[in-house]
Amino acid sequence: MASEHIIVVGAGQMGAGIAQVSLQAGLRVTLVDVSKEGLAKGADRIRAGLAKLVEKGKLDDAKRKAAEANLATSTSAADVKDVDFAVEAVTENEDLKRRIFQDLDAVVKPGGVLATNTSSIPITRIAASTKRPEAVIGMHFMNPVPLMQLVELIRGAATSDETYQKTRALAEKMGKTTVVSKDMPGFIVNRILIPMLNEACFALMEGLGTAEDIDTAMKLGTNQPMGPLQLADFIGLDTCLYIAEVLHKGLGDPKYRPCPLLRQYVDAGWYGKKSGRGFYKY
Ligand code: NAD
Repeated sequence: MASEHIIVVGAGQMGAGIAQVSLQAGLRVTLVDVSKEGLAKGADRIRAGLAKLVEKGKLDDAKRKAAEANLATSTSAADVKDVDFAVEAVTENEDLKRRIFQDLDAVVKPGGVLATNTSSIPITRIAASTKRPEAVIGMHFMNPVPLMQLVELIRGAATSDETYQKTRALAEKMGKTTVVSKDMPGFIVNRILIPMLNEACFALMEGLGTAEDIDTAMKLGTNQPMGPLQLADFIGLDTCLYIAEVLHKGLGDPKYRPCPLLRQYVDAGWYGKKSGRGFYKY
């Protein structure tokens, strides 16, 4: 049996992916979600992800079986025992995350790490809800977790060097490359990406080009795998607007103001690919 035990709280899109790469790294994983249905869906997604790797010849079947045997599920974080490492990936809501961190504080062994996958909430504030802010760190995975190479590590005001080193070692064990960001709105990736996507919305609103022309220009002119409007549709326009608002409010600079067209699309319920319509129809 694998020795290190990780608890992943939240079995959604990100939590399931984080649990999968943890299993691939040989860890014992307990996946937690309040929703029984969400938990079952998350576990199914993990098994499908592992099976796909076997199909592609990237994982042998014995390792897949061992990984599956290392997966447990629970509907309550407070009931899980002997935890070395926690990664929280629940819905982006500060009160909810603070409550979960109080539970995790009681569950993670002394000397363990409490990480959050938040995209926008200050790590320092989440850390302050625990009795050991030095053990709290941001571990920001990209979506889809099994495919994306990067993990941003965010040190809160109190994060210790030991916590940082352990988290970096874990990310590397998962096959990821890490960068370190200060605990500032958007960290590194969203601080630069979201203003670019927002600017593409302004360009469309001003009639600089059609959606197709803007996307083709950026795809072929700057060698990106997809254009900014399509990428915004994939991320979710509600999520893009939310992060733009976090940058605008948190940094207090008008250059981050969300584009009115983006806001209007979100008001209309056009969230992008997941709702069937955004800048494109799906
Ligand atoms: P999601 O909606 O797919 O999953 C969230 C899960 O949290 C759901 O299954 C929900 O049932 C569960 N949950 C809610 N309350 C809970 C509780 N009290 N205890 C346990 N589980 C609970 O969301 P997601 O896209 O996976 O995002 C999760 C986190 O990851 C957020 O903080 C988000 O900002 C961050 N993030 C998302 C992305 C992305 O592209 N989706 C990328 C990086 C980081």
